[in-house]
Amino acid sequence: MSKHSENQASESGLVVYKRLLGYLKSYKVQFAISIAGFLVYSLTQASFGYIIEQFIKALRMPESTSLLYVPILVVVLAFARGASFFVANFAMSKVSLGIINDLRKQVFDKMLYLPSQYYDSRNSAELVSLITFNINQVSNSASTAVKTVFREGFTVLALLAYLFYQNWQLTAIFLLVAPFMAGIVALASRQFSKLSKRIQDSMGNLAHITNESVNGYRLVRGYGGEGYERQRFNQASERNTKQGIRFNFIHSLQTPVLQFILSVALALVMLLVLNMEGAPEEHVAYIVMAGLLARPIRALTQISGQIQKGVAAAQSVFEVIDIPSEQDEGSYTVARAGGTIAINALSFRYTAIDSQVLRNINLHIPRGQSVALVGRSGSGKTTLASLISRFYEPSEGSITLDGVALSEYKQSNLRQQIALVSQNITLFNCTVAENIAYGHLADASMEAIRAAAKAAHALDFIEQLPEGFNTIIGEDGTRLSGGQRQRLAIARALLKDAPVLILDEATSALDTESERKIQAALTELMKNRTTIVIAHRLSTIENADTIVVMDNGEIIEQGSHEQLLAANGMYAGLHTSQALIQDDQG
Ligand code: ADP
Ligand code: MG
Repeated sequence: MSKHSENQASESGLVVYKRLLGYLKSYKVQFAISIAGFLVYSLTQASFGYIIEQFIKALRMPESTSLLYVPILVVVLAFARGASFFVANFAMSKVSLGIINDLRKQVFDKMLYLPSQYYDSRNSAELVSLITFNINQVSNSASTAVKTVFREGFTVLALLAYLFYQNWQLTAIFLLVAPFMAGIVALASRQFSKLSKRIQDSMGNLAHITNESVNGYRLVRGYGGEGYERQRFNQASERNTKQGIRFNFIHSLQTPVLQFILSVALALVMLLVLNMEGAPEEHVAYIVMAGLLARPIRALTQISGQIQKGVAAAQSVFEVIDIPSEQDEGSYTVARAGGTIAINALSFRYTAIDSQVLRNINLHIPRGQSVALVGRSGSGKTTLASLISRFYEPSEGSITLDGVALSEYKQSNLRQQIALVSQNITLFNCTVAENIAYGHLADASMEAIRAAAKAAHALDFIEQLPEGFNTIIGEDGTRLSGGQRQRLAIARALLKDAPVLILDEATSALDTESERKIQAALTELMKNRTTIVIAHRLSTIENADTIVVMDNGEIIEQGSHEQLLAANGMYAGLHTSQALIQDDQG
């Protein structure tokens, strides 16, 4: 690691601390109570020397004080110590759990508004691991660190104050070794920082490999991928273990080295005390107190590892929080849009390094009309549908709905105008009814849900489920067939009753028979709304008002079915070949 980037790392470490402090704001009171508790706790530690001193004095000169004085003091201090420990720890745990809760909610909330590009580039399991693992790591290490710094830090200060008060020359010896100890801690800390980052990355790796193998278990077994999966999981797991062992090697070595340095200093002090004059109780008390320094100092030096783990985790959490949300600067809202869509000189690439996926698209769709997009797979149909739903921003050109640019709409309002059935259907692990009436539709009546299901030809199979509309359909609808899933998704879109309907291969998993039936329902539905249908089976789109043929990101033909057949271009070619295939089948 170069000098430069090391400095950067420590700098960002500082930034991270400051930012974490910001989260304390809502917990000022509990935090203050906790700190006060630790202060009392450490004072009770330091008063131990005073007790010893008084005890020996009472032994030597019983007539000088009451014999009850020291025992009573012990009980009182023990109580104060216990009570302050309880208050301080409990208050701090409230702070730390509260911060976990805040961070978790903040990150989840962020995820709801992250731009599509983020999801394109990340593995979903890593996001899960961020919420379940990294955030806990942040708060646990921060609270452990804070607890230790205050509890042990105050104890060290109180002990040092006592020792200085007793004999400042002797005590100065301890300060002489402090820089050595600090140097060792700093050295170890740098290693901790590096290793923590690696440990955390490998945790994310483990999560995503597990996720892929679990979700794809059929594929893994069907294609004999067990060996490959085992190998890459083991590799990631072993990398994690190796880094963990390195971390603990340094962690375990650091403590005895520091203890040894401290003990040498203590031995030196003892040697000097033995050659000093004065009351033995003062000497004993001094040495006992000096000996007491070892434990809190050990605890203090041990937290640097913990802190580095926390910083690495916090960096990963803040990284996500800092990603700009999906663009939503528009303020235009409309109760129900008319549905005229115009696409003007639109070009698009997914990221700056990707090549252009759409090139100079111009398309006007009057309200209430239907447009079918056809073209080879990869020609950009889904991409165009995503742009109309504003999941991405055009690289050049614009899209308007009723003459208003999509970017001028409030995102939530725009999306209310569009019902999208996408190629990849998402279903939730809840009931059939809840899946159809999702989101804004949650308060739809049972009759409306039923009607939508009927129009989507889903009613038959729903009624055969064990509990009908109240059947839980499993994670992402695993208990349904592909065609059933599509029919639920169509029912959901029908229930939404939006002025713009986009169907992206929405009937691809249906058999010809069901598709024909749904087609009838869809045709009915298209009557009063603007519809964009993407279909690979041409028979389903012949009735569209306009058929747009796309190839390689461009519109190469458009017109009605008859016009395009007459033009004898690509559409006509596609049509003939599909007709042939269907003839073969039939
Ligand atoms: P179609 O729906 O017509 O089959 P798509 O719109 O899905 O085509 O894809 C068009 C092109 O864009 C393809 O070359 C595909 O590789 C690319 N593409 C699709 N989705 C993404 C994405 N999220 N990031 C980068 N490239 C993408
Ligand atoms: Mg597609």
